[in-house]
Amino acid sequence: MIYYKTAEEIELIRESALLVSKTLANIAANLKVGLSAKKIDKEAETFIRDHGGVPAFKGYRGFPATLCMSFNDAVVHGIPTDQEFTTKDIISVDCGVVLNGFYGDSAFTFAFSEVSEEVIKLMQVTRESLKLGIEAAVVGNRIGDISHAVQNYCEKEHGYGIVRELVGHGVGRSLHEEPEVPNFGQKGRGPLLKDGLVIAIEPMVNLGSRNVKQMDDGWTILTRDGKPSAHFEHTIAVRKSGPDILSNHDIIDFEIKNNVEIMDISINC
Ligand code: MG
Ligand code: MG
Repeated sequence: MIYYKTAEEIELIRESALLVSKTLANIAANLKVGLSAKKIDKEAETFIRDHGGVPAFKGYRGFPATLCMSFNDAVVHGIPTDQEFTTKDIISVDCGVVLNGFYGDSAFTFAFSEVSEEVIKLMQVTRESLKLGIEAAVVGNRIGDISHAVQNYCEKEHGYGIVRELVGHGVGRSLHEEPEVPNFGQKGRGPLLKDGLVIAIEPMVNLGSRNVKQMDDGWTILTRDGKPSAHFEHTIAVRKSGPDILSNHDIIDFEIKNNVEIMDISINC
């Protein structure tokens, strides 16, 4: 069952998604070599609660933290630990909150100062593919048009691996609603996009092969070949006037530009 949202509900989801974005921007301002993932996670929880929200992931099917923090070859669902950031790390941070009964969900991958050009390119292409997916999210298209836009750009044009096992999703009164939004698929296939559909589009893109495995912690998803993976996610609403991006990556870019330890990977979107 797909729940289409009213204009009022979309504004409430925007508030939730914006709190997620502000949390990620706060992280962008504070990321530093030598800090631990766990410390950033604690700060994020405080930030969300201080702004009247509740962390959406904490306790979700037993997940123990506010953020998913996935280092390097971790694709998604990494549990924040005492692991400290180094100059060579990339770190994907996924955040969800619930505020006024509605969820927001967004993710961003950060690169410290000595990450290779090859990996920066992976991050930029992943981010660009999210933009292309959003551009395909127009009334009258189908989910497969979004999926195809992401897959074609990452796999065909750039030779990266698109993860198949994890997908985007509807967002609303639940964190994960129908429909599924795969990052691979065919044009013209899948559910029709109608006004009021709110979805999270979230390409997970591997430098090497698309194959993944789960770590013994029961959560972290790793690339099988040990190569890095990037993840960017927006919560968006399909509107008659075009796609409306409810989360905000510009405020994250702004903080990155002021943090000399993090590389600017903005792509003009
Ligand atoms: Mg997410
Ligand atoms: Mg999501």
